[in-house]
Amino acid sequence: MKVVALAGGTGSAKLLRGLQGLSVRLTAVVNVGDNAWMYGVYVCPDVDVATYALAGIASRATGWGIEGDSFEALDELAKLGEETWFRLGDRDLAVCLLRTQMLREGATLTEATDRIRRGLGVKSRVLPATDSGVETWIATSKGEMHLQEFWVKEKGEPRVKGVSYRGARTADATPQVRSAILSADRVVVCPANPVTSIGPMLALRGFAGLLSETSARVVAVSPMVGRAPISGPAGKFMRAMGMVPDSSAVARLYSKFLDCMLISEQDRAMKSSIESLGLRCVTSDTMMAGPADEARLAAEALEI
Ligand code: GDP
Repeated sequence: MKVVALAGGTGSAKLLRGLQGLSVRLTAVVNVGDNAWMYGVYVCPDVDVATYALAGIASRATGWGIEGDSFEALDELAKLGEETWFRLGDRDLAVCLLRTQMLREGATLTEATDRIRRGLGVKSRVLPATDSGVETWIATSKGEMHLQEFWVKEKGEPRVKGVSYRGARTADATPQVRSAILSADRVVVCPANPVTSIGPMLALRGFAGLLSETSARVVAVSPMVGRAPISGPAGKFMRAMGMVPDSSAVARLYSKFLDCMLISEQDRAMKSSIESLGLRCVTSDTMMAGPADEARLAAEALEI
C-alpha cells in the first residue's frame, strides 16, 4: 500500500513513526513554512523532525532536534556575543550545514532532503511540500514576525492578529509531491497545527486540488481534544482566525478534500456535526504516549 502522510512537527512525527512500522510504502510530505535562515544555515524544522523521527533519532523530550545532542557550537556563538534563542544542537547543525552547502551548489531542497534521509538510513521518502521558499509570518501586537520568532523568541506570547504564507500564491507543489499524492492508495493528514503546518501546504497553488483529485482515501487524525490542541499554539492561531479550536473546526477546514476524520473518543458529541459535512467520522484514543499508541493509531488511520 502506498501511503502519503502530510506532516508538520511533533504530533506528525509520532504518527509517522507508527506508519513506518506498518508494511506500507510511506512518503512524508512535509511543511516548509517554518524554514528560516539562522546562524548562516538553512533550518527546516518540520522536515528535520520528520526525518529524525523516521531515523529513530528524534528527541522525544523536546519534540525537535536529535536525542542527546550537544550544543557546543551554539554555546560558542553565545560567548561571541550572538543571540542564540533558536536552539540548534551540534548534530542538527551538521545536517543544516550539508543542506546549506547543497543548496548553495544548486541542489533543490527536495534533493538535499533526500540526501540527508538516505545518509540517516531512512527508508521512507521525505519530500518538502515545495522547493519554492514559502514562509509563515504572524501579524502580532508587536508587529509582523516570522513564525520562529513568534513561537521561539517571543514564546508565543504576543497577541495574534493574522497569519500569512509568504510566497505561497506563486509556489507549486514539487513534481515528486504531485505524483506521490496522485498515485497514493491512502493520504493521511497527520495531527499537526492546521494553521501553521498544514495551512502552508494547502495555500500552495493547486495543492488542495491534488487532494481532491487523488483516488486515494484521504483521512485526517485530529490534533485536538475538546477545545484545545494536545500541544502547541494551534488554539491561539485558530481563535485569532475566528474559529473554535476543536475537531469540528479542523474538519471544516479540510472538508473539501477529506473522506474521513479520526477524532478523540472524548469528542464523540462532535461526530454528527462532522458527518453533516459529508465525511465519515470515527472516534478513537488519539493520544500517542509512546510507540504502542503510535502503531495502533497509524493502523487505525489506514483501516478506516
Ligand atoms: P505546533 O503547533 O507548532 O506544535 O505544530 P505541529 O504541526 O508540530 O503541531 C503539533 C500538533 O500535533 C499539535 O496541534 C498537537 O495538538 C498535535 N499532537 C501532539 N501530540 C499529539 C498526539 O499524541 N496525538 C494527536 N492526535 N495529536 C498530537
